Amino acid sequence: MKRMLKTILVCLALVTMVAGTAACGTKKAEGKFNPGTYEGTAKGHGGDVKAKVTVTADKITEIVIDAPNETEGIGSGAAKVVIENIMSGQNLAVDTVSGATVSSTAMIAAITAALEKAGADIDALKKATSTATVAKQEDLSTDIVIIGAGGAGMSAAVEAATAGKKVIIVEKMPIVGGNTTRATGGMNAAETSIQAAAGITDTKETFYNDTMKGGKEKNDPALLQTMVDNAATAVDWINELGGDLKRVTLSGGATNPRIHTPVDGSAVGPVVVKVLSAKLEALKVEIMLNTEATKIITKDGAAVGIEAKDENGNPFKIEAKAVIIATGGFGANSEMVEGFRPDLVGFSTTNHKGATGDGIVMAQAVGADLTDIGEIQIHPTTDPGTGYMFTEGLRGDGAILINAEGKRFTDELLTRDVVSANILKQTDGIAYLITNEEMRAENASLAGYVKKGYAVEAATLADLAKELGMDADVLVKTMATYAEAVKSGKDAEFNRTHLTKSLEAGPYFALKVTPGIHHTMGGLKIDTTTHVIGTDGKAIAGLYAAGEVVGGVHGANRIGGNAVTDIIVFGKIAGKIAAEEMK
Ligand code: ADP
Repeated sequence: MKRMLKTILVCLALVTMVAGTAACGTKKAEGKFNPGTYEGTAKGHGGDVKAKVTVTADKITEIVIDAPNETEGIGSGAAKVVIENIMSGQNLAVDTVSGATVSSTAMIAAITAALEKAGADIDALKKATSTATVAKQEDLSTDIVIIGAGGAGMSAAVEAATAGKKVIIVEKMPIVGGNTTRATGGMNAAETSIQAAAGITDTKETFYNDTMKGGKEKNDPALLQTMVDNAATAVDWINELGGDLKRVTLSGGATNPRIHTPVDGSAVGPVVVKVLSAKLEALKVEIMLNTEATKIITKDGAAVGIEAKDENGNPFKIEAKAVIIATGGFGANSEMVEGFRPDLVGFSTTNHKGATGDGIVMAQAVGADLTDIGEIQIHPTTDPGTGYMFTEGLRGDGAILINAEGKRFTDELLTRDVVSANILKQTDGIAYLITNEEMRAENASLAGYVKKGYAVEAATLADLAKELGMDADVLVKTMATYAEAVKSGKDAEFNRTHLTKSLEAGPYFALKVTPGIHHTMGGLKIDTTTHVIGTDGKAIAGLYAAGEVVGGVHGANRIGGNAVTDIIVFGKIAGKIAAEEMK
C-alpha cells in the first residue's frame, strides 16, 4: 500500500515536470532514477527556494536552483557549493554551507524533494559516501597572494591582475564576499558625477570634515584624505564594472546627501561582490575557497608568501613576491572583542562568521603595529534575536525611532555611537523603527525586511500600539507631534534637521531593534599606499593590507557608507602598489 502511494505521488510529480522525458508509469528498471527533469521546493530565508534537477537512469546531470529571495551573494554562493558537492559526489551526503546555513539547508531540501519525485532512494543517497579521493593541495607560487575575498581583497585582485600580475586569492569560507556582502547601506563619495546629475552640492572638504567629526577627530588625517580623494573614482569604477550605484541619499553623520546606493534602494554589498566576482572570473583570477591562511612567511624581514590549510585541513605554502592582507575585521570573534573592550560582553554581532581577526594575528606575528584597536562600533539597528542589520538608510529616508513606551527619544540621524547609546538607555535596551507603506513602496531594503517577516504590521497607529503592547494615545500623540515637525521643518523636541516623511498614513511597519557589534575600526597600521607598518615604525617589505583589517581610516567611529568606500579605495591601492613594487 505504501509502495502504491509512492507510485501515485511519483506519477503526480511527473505531471508537473518541467521538461520531463519520462512518462508516468515508466519503470525505473535497473537505474537509480526515472529519467527526466523534476522540481522540488523548500522554505528558505526569504521565501521559496526551487530546485530543478535533471537525471538519467543512474546520474544526476543538472541542478538549477532558483532562490530569488535569498540574500544575493550569500544565496548564489551557497547554491554553487551545494550543486558542486551534490554533482561531484552524486549523492545527498553533503553538509550545509557555513555562513549560509538557512539558504543551503533549503537548497538541499528542494533538491531532495525533486530527487524523491524522480523515484530516488533518498536514504541511500544520504548515507552514500563519496568515492572521490582526497588530494592534498601542493605548494604553489605566484606573483601576489591575497588573503581574503571580501570587497578589499577582490578590488586588490582586480587591480593587480589588470596590471598583468599572477594573483591567487585564498578565502577561508566556502563563499566569497565576507562582511562586504552584508553591507546594507551604500557608498559615500563627494563631488561625484551622480551627485552633480541630481543637483546635489557637496564637497570633498565637507566629506572629510564630517568623517573626522564622526570619528571624534581620531582618524588618521592622511588615510582619511586618501579615502576622500579617491572615493568618487571608486564609485565610478564599481559602476563601470556593472554596478548601479546611481541613487544618492542622506545618511547619518553626513551634511549632504552622498551615500550612493543601487537605484532601487537595495543594499550595496551584494552588488559590489557580484561585479567584482564577475570581473575576477573574466580576468581568470584563481580564488581558492575553503582555504585558510595561517601564517605569513618572511625572509630577511620581507613577506615572501603564506602558509595555509587546504579544504581538508592539510597545510601547504604559497610563495609570492607580495602578500596583501584583506581578512576583514574581528567583530565575530567575541574573545578578541572582549579582550580589547571588556565592556562589550555578550553583544550579538552583525558580522559573518569569518570575521575573526586572523590578519591582525598573522601580521602581528611578523612585527606589524596596530592602531585604534579598542575602537569597536555597535550598529544601532539590528534585530535583537538574530543580529540581522537594518540599514541606516531607512532613518535617512524618513523612519523614526520610538521606545517601548511609544515615545521618540533621539534625533535619529546622529552618528551610530550616539544613537546606539540612546537606544541602550531605553527600557530593555530596545527601540522600534517606525515606517509606513509609502516608505516600503520606495525602498527595496524595507520591502525585503517586511517580506522576511521582521516587521510588525498594522493598518493604523492604534492597531500598531496594540501589537507592540504600548499605550495607543501616547503613540498617536508622538506621531502627530512628529508630523507637525516635518510640516513646519522644525523638530523642537530632538532637533532632527532632515525631515522628509510625515508618516501620517498607514499601513505601518515597526522593526524591533537593538545595537549589535558591527565594525572594528582599529587594526593594522598602514601608510597611504597600504604598506603594513611595523612596531619599529618602518614598512614591512612585501606586506600590504586593506579593508576592515586596517585601523586609522575611521578613527573612533565609522560613518555609515564609509566602509564600502574604504575597502574599494584601499583595496585598489593595495593591488596597484603591490603590482608596481613587486620584484
Ligand atoms: P573587507 O570589507 O575588508 O573586504 P570582508 O569581511 O568583506 O572584509 O572580507 C574579508 C574576507 O577574508 C572574508 O571573506 C573572510 O572569510 C576572509 N578571511 C578572514 N580570515 C581569513 C584567513 N585566515 N584566510 C583566508 N581568508 C580569510
